[in-house]
Amino acid sequence: MTSRIAKFPGVELHSKDFYEGKVTQVRSRPDARYEFSAGEAMSRFLEELQNGKLIARTCNGCKRILFPPRMFCEECYRPTDEWRYIRDTGTIETFSISYLDQDAKRITEPILVGVVSLDGASPKMGMMHYFGEMTKDEIRIGMRVKAVWKPAEEREGSVLDIRYFRPLKEGEA
Ligand SMILES: [Zn+2]
Repeated sequence: MTSRIAKFPGVELHSKDFYEGKVTQVRSRPDARYEFSAGEAMSRFLEELQNGKLIARTCNGCKRILFPPRMFCEECYRPTDEWRYIRDTGTIETFSISYLDQDAKRITEPILVGVVSLDGASPKMGMMHYFGEMTKDEIRIGMRVKAVWKPAEEREGSVLDIRYFRPLKEGEA
């Protein structure tokens, strides 16, 4: 027979106790200002997104094209060698059909998210992103896709400068 603790020691607090001021509390809004460096590779990557381009790093050791770019090759244990632009087309590696939005609220029209491996980079080098202009019934692993970019004046050096990846049309490079 399992015994169940009916009552824990101490007093259980409910959120209303906080709102009603029954619990000593301090509220403050710190004026925290900070900056951080994205690092050499990520900074260039973000800058190029603002230009509507995807950039990778090549490694002369393993001959791979690393995307997203990094200044150090984790396989060769050596610095990478050159910058190289890759294409904004690719292949869906994996995806999820999400009925939760970014705030974890339930939604009826699902968001499609997943990983795209980009053309021109080494296999399995990709980025996570949204998919659009396709339904949950149409999306599949191996589907060919292309980035849909925000207009240049709206881009701000973020992965969201790409709105989503849409299906590649017949005959489209
Ligand atoms: Zn390498």
